[in-house]
Amino acid sequence: MSDTPKHGFDTLQVHAGAAPDPATGARQTPIYQSTAFVFRDADHAAALFNLQEVGYIYSRLTNPTIAVLQERVATLEGGAGAVACSSGHAAQIMALFPLMQPGCNVVASTRLYGGTIQQFSNTIRRFGWSCKWVDFDDTDALKAAIDDDTRAVFCESIANPGGYITDLDVIAGISDEAGVPLIVDNTSATPYLCRPFEHGATIVVHSTTKYLTGNGTVTGGMVVDSGKFDWSASDKFPSLSQPEPAYHGLKFHEALGPMAFTFYGIAVGLRDLGMTMNPQGAHYTLMGIETLSLRMQRHVENAVRVANWLERDPRVEEVTYAGLPSSPYHDRMARICPHGAGALFTFAIKGGYEACVKLVDSVELFSHVANLGDARSLIIHSASTTHRQLTPEQQEAAGAGPNVVRLSIGIEDPDDLIADLDQALDKATA
Ligand SMILES: *Cc1c(COP(=O)(O)O)cnc(C)c1O
Repeated sequence: MSDTPKHGFDTLQVHAGAAPDPATGARQTPIYQSTAFVFRDADHAAALFNLQEVGYIYSRLTNPTIAVLQERVATLEGGAGAVACSSGHAAQIMALFPLMQPGCNVVASTRLYGGTIQQFSNTIRRFGWSCKWVDFDDTDALKAAIDDDTRAVFCESIANPGGYITDLDVIAGISDEAGVPLIVDNTSATPYLCRPFEHGATIVVHSTTKYLTGNGTVTGGMVVDSGKFDWSASDKFPSLSQPEPAYHGLKFHEALGPMAFTFYGIAVGLRDLGMTMNPQGAHYTLMGIETLSLRMQRHVENAVRVANWLERDPRVEEVTYAGLPSSPYHDRMARICPHGAGALFTFAIKGGYEACVKLVDSVELFSHVANLGDARSLIIHSASTTHRQLTPEQQEAAGAGPNVVRLSIGIEDPDDLIADLDQALDKATA
C-alpha cells in the first residue's frame, strides 16, 4: 500500500511504507539483516551511486526495513522524506548538519530536553557551531537573536519537562520572515498529538526511543523534512544549493527538489557521519508505531487523571501540565496539539529537594529511570539526574527546579498509579 493521503492516521500507522514482501509474500515487514545488496549489473551500481536510481547499496546508507520505517514516519508527519538515525541525539546533529558551517548558530528555546541543552551548549562548539538561547514566549527576543549567521531555529512542540507548549504558528512565522528553517523536536507529542508541518515547521526530529517505539526497548531517531523550504532562496545553505564537493559537485536542491534535504542526509550525512539505525531496531519501532494512536490516547487519558488528582492534593505545591485547565498553555493545546498535551508533566512537592529524593525512592509501581514514553510509568527527579549538569538558572528555565519531579505516565490502570503516588507522597512528606 502506498501512503495515499485519503487514509486516516490509524490506517497509515499500520500500513504506510509497507507492502507484502515481493520475494516471499511475508505480510509483516521482514528484518533485512544484511549489510550489502547485490547490484543487478555494473550500470545499476553506477546509477545507484549517482543517485539516478533509488535502491540499496550498503546498510550504513539505506536498508529495506529502515526504508519502511522512514516512509511510515514521514507519512504520519505529512513530510516529503525522512532519515532514520541511531538515536534522537544523532537525529539532531543530522538535522543541523546540512544547514550549518563553522561560525553558524542555531537559535533554540530554553525549554528543551536536558540532553539537548548539553549537546547545543557544549558539544556542537567542537564543530564551530553555536547556540543562542531564547525564551520562545518572548518573540521580540527571538527576532533579535536571529542574525546573519543563524541557520536554524529549534524548539520542542511539547517541551519536556516543563509542561510547555510552543506556539509553533508564531515561531514558524518569525523563522520564515528571517529565511531560516524551523526544526521542531516532536518526541513528546508524536505526530498523533501534534503535526508541526501543519503549523509551518520545516523539519521535524524525533527520538524514536520514546513513544514511537513505546516500550523502552531500542534507541533511535528520525529527521523528517517537509520538503517545502526553498534552500536556493539565499546563499545561506550552500550544501543544498551549491555544487557539493563531498558528492562530485551535485547541486542537491536543483537535482532533487523537495527530496534534497533527505537525500543529502543519506548520501552525505549517513555516509560520512555513520549515525545509522540498525534493521532490528527499526523492526521494534515499526511494531510500536502500529499502535501509536491507541497508546497515546491511553497515555493522555491517564496523565489527565493523575494530574487532576495531584493538583487537588495538599502535599503538592504545583502541577505543570498543559492538559490541566489551570495551565497557562491550556489554550495553546487546543490549537497546537488538539488530541492532548502528552503524558509527561512535572509537579512540585512540599519539602524541596530532600522530599523529592525520598519520593523517587518510595514509589513501587513507577520506575525511577532516565527515560520517557514507555508503556510503564516512570518517575525522575530532574535536578539530581538529567538536569544535574545545568546551572540553577538553566534548571529553573527548563522547568526542572530542585523541588520538581517529572512523571512519564504509562498505559497501566490509572487507579494503581494514583495509589502508588499516594503512598510514596506519604513517606516523602512525613
Ligand atoms: C530522549 C529525547 C531526546 C534524545 O533522544 P535519544 O534517543 O535518547 O538520543 C531528544 N529530545 C527529546 C525531547 C527526548 O525526549
